[in-house]
Amino acid sequence: MPELKNTRGIDYFDNVDFKQIVSYSGNPNPVCGDCLKNLLFMEDLILIPILNEVYCHKCGTNHLNTMKHFPEDDAIQKRRTNFYKNYFENGKLKY
Ligand SMILES: [Zn+2]
Repeated sequence: MPELKNTRGIDYFDNVDFKQIVSYSGNPNPVCGDCLKNLLFMEDLILIPILNEVYCHKCGTNHLNTMKHFPEDDAIQKRRTNFYKNYFENGKLKY
């Protein structure tokens, strides 16, 4: 189950299963937003709502360590985080 966390003001979801990304995006071959590695069968993906992007665990962690928090983005971040939270809690997985 994805876990909503926050580091230095940046929301992110940890432990995202690739099936949830496939189901959400309709893309049967999701890739990491950074290293472009295929994400199939990974269960520890990191999704960063403000970037609308999903990463393998290694790249997601790197990204979170180097990202800057912009307070002016907080309203957008809140909206996107809620969108994904709602999807993870209530979305139907089609597989
Ligand atoms: Zn990666």
